[in-house]
Amino acid sequence: IEDPKCVAKTFPDYFEALFSICETERERIPVICIDGPTASGKGTIAAEVAKALGYQLLDSGALYRITGLAASRAGLALDESNEETIAEMALEMPVRFDAQQRVWLGDEDISLAIRSEEAGMNASRVSTLPAVRSALVDLQLAFQHLPGLVADGRDMGTVIFPHAPLKVYLWASAQCRAERRYKQLISKGISANISTLLADLEARDARDMNRATAPLKPAEDSLQLDSSQMTIEEVVAQVLSWWQERQLFGRA
Ligand code: C5P
Repeated sequence: IEDPKCVAKTFPDYFEALFSICETERERIPVICIDGPTASGKGTIAAEVAKALGYQLLDSGALYRITGLAASRAGLALDESNEETIAEMALEMPVRFDAQQRVWLGDEDISLAIRSEEAGMNASRVSTLPAVRSALVDLQLAFQHLPGLVADGRDMGTVIFPHAPLKVYLWASAQCRAERRYKQLISKGISANISTLLADLEARDARDMNRATAPLKPAEDSLQLDSSQMTIEEVVAQVLSWWQERQLFGRA
């Protein structure tokens, strides 16, 4: 169907109806991976690309943030001494993402709680624990639904979806990412300091890139995109254009 919008008037729920009755093996459902360092804009880009294509969205960082939050609330030190306990928690967490992309842990809306800088640091700590990473694999794979998935994280293309037909490694200079994060916080009325943000961001990059299990690195078959000088719209357009080139009836 070259122009999916052609159903808009006569059968607006056409695609929902179609994909509710279609089935295929999980391996055949397309995945676009968007990996990269913290504050590179992956989350925003992945959400926009998913919206444009009508695909599911996996924010894998949220799963590590939720695990970090649950473990720190339980009073656990976020290190090897509690690796198995935290992994068990991760396996049993009653996590749910709703249609508005709010994140629920049981009956509690934790969308805001997991977005703090502290929650990001805690996520980075629990994510170094191999048992925690394994515990979250099935949960991530379960997001692969028709008609397709856009998955954002650190190891989407290297570990979780190694056969994905499009892998993008999105990055920007640390200075540029710190400035973006600064503007984001200030616009929400949260006070911030660029040099502290830059130091935190570099510490998180270092931990994500140097951990033994699933370190952050571009997949060999990924396309790298430096977004330092690009707007959100330009990055989204580039990813959609790469995706279009891979389609049977695409430009290629
Ligand atoms: O992407 P986000 O900033 O929400 O991720 C929080 C942390 O979770 C990252 O710093 C990283 O340590 C970890 N993470 C990971 N693997 C992923 C996604 C996130 O290790 N696929």
